[in-house]
Amino acid sequence: MTHLSPRPALPSAGRPLVDRYGRHVTYLRISVTDRCDFRCVYCMAENMTFLPKREILSFEEIETIAGAFVSRGVTKLRLTGGEPLVRRDIMDLVRSLGRHLKGGGLQELTITTNGSQLARHAEGLAAAGIRRINVSLDTLDPGRFTAITRRGRIADVLAGIEAARTAGLEIKINMVAMRGINEDEIEPMIAWAHGRGMGLTLIEGMPLGEVGLDRVDSYLPLRELRDRLAARYTLEKIDKRTGGPARYVRVAETGGILGFITPMSHNFCESCNRVRLTATGQLFMCLGQDDQVNLRDALREGGLDTLDAALDRAMILKPKGHDFVLDREHTGPAVMRHMSVTGG
Ligand code: SAM
Ligand code: SF4
Repeated sequence: MTHLSPRPALPSAGRPLVDRYGRHVTYLRISVTDRCDFRCVYCMAENMTFLPKREILSFEEIETIAGAFVSRGVTKLRLTGGEPLVRRDIMDLVRSLGRHLKGGGLQELTITTNGSQLARHAEGLAAAGIRRINVSLDTLDPGRFTAITRRGRIADVLAGIEAARTAGLEIKINMVAMRGINEDEIEPMIAWAHGRGMGLTLIEGMPLGEVGLDRVDSYLPLRELRDRLAARYTLEKIDKRTGGPARYVRVAETGGILGFITPMSHNFCESCNRVRLTATGQLFMCLGQDDQVNLRDALREGGLDTLDAALDRAMILKPKGHDFVLDREHTGPAVMRHMSVTGG
């Protein structure tokens, strides 16, 4: 159990985080661990070296940093990783962050998970104030699932999804669309997810870190996929914006929501409202760039004042956007960090 004492106020509490381009940062993603029980082919290499545990932020440090962001106007926190639910005692952190929801300025606490541990945590997540979660699922075929994740069991994930539905959590399925790997499952996944009252978001694979996949061969531009789906379904535009790269439609035939995350073929950096904290306390201002500020050192060496100043430095450093390119001339990663390090 973490026992958190009331913290003194941040020097700039109440002053919003605004970058050089006038974008307000209101959304923090927190990677609570770089570790994972899966090794998805597009995310990780087969043999990963994980960070030494002593370098990882303690729950108290995460809570302090998250609290600093909330007092500077962040209204949404997402826990991610790696797999957030494999970090030991993770529910202690979820509960302590959940307290910001009760009149503390935080509007939403959420989580992105691979679902493997969801069956035992779903109720606790709901009890802590989480209303919506994202679960990653790229296929409904058990053999394919184990091949893509290199070790996962789809039955665990499906049980986790059922437990989350029973706990009353709203669920969005994230599916990385890959040519020649799962592109034949897009329509079945729409029917499956929407048939259970869940949203589905399709994601373009991004060139982050060295992994076990030919990124060029497997890259499936979602523009092409959307055209294919539009021939079969009625895709109604809806006005749902999250400040991120996702764009949403309603599928008239199913009534469900379908999202497209297109960082490769179309980026929406001009409306970006988010920053990402790694498990070791580096703050990345863009998934696809290397600009960073070390919040762990700021906090450990200078306390709250230095942390506060580091947030302002981060706003000056937030880049205009990423420039992912993926073609036969550019087959390597745009940045060497795996998605599991920065937090997806
Ligand atoms: N382990 C959790 C999960 O899988 O949901 C959370 C972390 S994972 C890095 C977050 C999301 O990033 C997942 O939906 C995953 O499919 C996606 N992802 C990982 N690597 C990616 C890549 N190279 N390109 C696009 N999406 C990626
Ligand atoms: Fe783990 Fe999520 Fe990366 Fe898959 S996508 S290896 S589940 S962190």
